Amino acid sequence: MRELVDANRKELANIVSLEHGKVPSDAMGEIARGLENIEFACGIPAMLKGGYSEQASGGVDVYSIRQPLGVVAGITPFNFPAMVPMWMFANAIMCGNTFVLKPSEKDPSAAMFVADLLRQAGLPEGVFNVVHGDKIAVDRLLEHKDIQSVSFVGSTPIAKYVYETGTKNGKRVQALGGAKNHMLVLPDADLDMAADAAVSAAYGSAGERCMAVSVVLAVDTVADALVEKLKSRIPNIKVGPGTDPSAEMGPLISREHRDKVASFVTNANAEGAKVVVDGTDKAKDAGFFLNPSLIDNVKPGMKCYDEEIFGPVLTVMRVKSYQEGLDTINANQFGNGTAIFTRDGGVARQFQFDVQVGMVGINVPIPVPVSYYSFGGWKASLFGDQHMYGPEGINFFTRGKVVTSRWPDPRTSSVNLGFPQNR
Ligand code: NAD
Repeated sequence: MRELVDANRKELANIVSLEHGKVPSDAMGEIARGLENIEFACGIPAMLKGGYSEQASGGVDVYSIRQPLGVVAGITPFNFPAMVPMWMFANAIMCGNTFVLKPSEKDPSAAMFVADLLRQAGLPEGVFNVVHGDKIAVDRLLEHKDIQSVSFVGSTPIAKYVYETGTKNGKRVQALGGAKNHMLVLPDADLDMAADAAVSAAYGSAGERCMAVSVVLAVDTVADALVEKLKSRIPNIKVGPGTDPSAEMGPLISREHRDKVASFVTNANAEGAKVVVDGTDKAKDAGFFLNPSLIDNVKPGMKCYDEEIFGPVLTVMRVKSYQEGLDTINANQFGNGTAIFTRDGGVARQFQFDVQVGMVGINVPIPVPVSYYSFGGWKASLFGDQHMYGPEGINFFTRGKVVTSRWPDPRTSSVNLGFPQNR
């Protein structure tokens, strides 16, 4: 499967680009990151090794094994139609489970292509399955008696619903939700580097990434200069369809979503913020394109700050100090990703401990963990205990068992009603 995905990267990226709208280079990046999870899963036998204690008591050996759950399900969002399924099924299948994927109804074709690759790879019938649909299909999976666990990635209200319904029905659930990712820029940061990083992380994939930078927290004296630097980079972003090789940012997923994203910008001035770049006024009529927007002077209580926008809108909040920036991040309902830009190693080190967020970047704007760590946020960005893929993915898709074993000489056998003790 690793070799088949590798050999078919371009075709899969093309399917993603045509159906989702992200530009092919971005789709290629998605597949490269998904492939990492398949590569990690190839080494899972080594990760499934249990412990062994010889002679834990007289003539007694104790060892642990991890076993698959059985039939497991994955429900995925529209924004990574190839990568997020790979986060799930690679580990699930290599841990010995069969997998039912319910891809987003908005772009289900990548799932079918992946199913075909798995068949070509020789996976037996029934090990990987695709079920299409929306709420009705999800509800059936959540109540189906044969489904042992549900992995979900999507928006927070649905993640909460999936977690509550799935666990009520006795299933193990990991449900990853939405995000509002802050990038804290300290006065000692290299401002050009910070501006490049913020623009790339905010507008890449038209902002439809759960790890997109959505809020820049500009500390103290850097705000004016940083806003200027962000603004100056925006006109260079080429918006267009994936079929145009020079396009860097494609359309949004649907007309409703584009209009919702645009409304955050349109209403921002009235809320007391300052629209520095208005991407809505130049939006093309054909397709669901929206140009990048930049909003300054954003504060908690404004819609464009309180809600997940999930589009090409970067907001700037001005804070007086590192502490105010940290407190702002920690007060936010979400805790998916965050980043700090600074040259001060001591402050960055303190930040990593103090910030209440699951994935932290130090001068890294989109800190998606490599496949041998695990992916997941805190607070309203994750419902459940286990993060996705990597070591926590293995825990999620297996159950532990401990065997206590003895091969006594039958002649030494006797009845003893006391509680077993070590001898
Ligand atoms: P969504 O919640 O609308 O849909 C996700 C899945 O849930 C889809 O398969 C969909 O069919 C299903 N679904 C939709 N409505 C449902 C309902 N009422 N009942 C049951 N199932 C339902 O999310 P989306 O719009 O596809 O994706 C964007 C969202 O996903 C954003 O909020 C983004 O932050 C989030 N996301 C999070 C992560 C993460 O790792 N935390 C990663 C990617 C995307």
